[in-house]
Amino acid sequence: MKAISGDDVFEAGADMIEVTSQHRPDTNWRVVDAQGHEHRWYVDGKPAVSYNPSAKHETPTLVDVHDGWGYWEDGERYAIHHYECRQCGEHIEPRYTADTNRQYIPGLRWCRINGESVSKEEFERRWSARNRDGAGSAI
Ligand SMILES: [Zn+2]
Repeated sequence: MKAISGDDVFEAGADMIEVTSQHRPDTNWRVVDAQGHEHRWYVDGKPAVSYNPSAKHETPTLVDVHDGWGYWEDGERYAIHHYECRQCGEHIEPRYTADTNRQYIPGLRWCRINGESVSKEEFERRWSARNRDGAGSAI
């Protein structure tokens, strides 16, 4: 938003951050193991209907099993692991995919008064001081 109050210019917003990924959960993935247990991606405990770059995608029906350590050429170690069904232990590999179009999420909120960067608190304090007649909050 941009608003002019008296001599002051109040501006606030959030820049969008590109989060396009070559490796993100494939929310179309769904598999039923030999024992009839269904596996898919979940968001907030519910089956994920579509991919949301701001949400945390999980596979609560699977357990991440640590198998040991591997070592890169430079000696740095990495975890070797697999996923298996929480109920029957069948090995299941959650499927990932790549974004087909650019994905954005809002970044940190910024506030400016007369072109100068200020905190959200100072912005709101000065905005309401300017608008005591009931114009309300700018954000
Ligand atoms: Zn199972």
